Amino acid sequence: MVRSVITERFYCDTCNCEYENEEEATACEAMSLEFRPPYAEVGQEIVSDFFCGYCRIGYTVGVITEIEGPVPADEDIEHRLIQIQGRVGVLHVYYLHVKAPCPLCKRELPWIKAIPQIRPNKRF
Ligand SMILES: [Zn+2]
Ligand SMILES: [Zn+2]
Repeated sequence: MVRSVITERFYCDTCNCEYENEEEATACEAMSLEFRPPYAEVGQEIVSDFFCGYCRIGYTVGVITEIEGPVPADEDIEHRLIQIQGRVGVLHVYYLHVKAPCPLCKRELPWIKAIPQIRPNKRF
């Protein structure tokens, strides 16, 4: 026998995540939204900590290529790639994809940074 089942879905207004029940969606929506400063824009040159594993040097300048978010803080990304702890489940956050070629070997490794880890590049 053929049946049609309609499943209700709930969405968080901030991050558009889908939930099966209203409480979870409401809880998601109630999480605060991380402040996004004006320099957190695609194309902006920013200062952060980068490291080239081939040359074994640290360097600081990169360019934002993509902004992901607002999304709920992801424990895996936070710990593994960003090394920030304690934000999980607390905030809707932004993840910044940054292009930062090594000044020596020019290798471009993909970086993901969080807003607290970047500063505007004030060269001028
Ligand atoms: Zn949400
Ligand atoms: Zn290098």
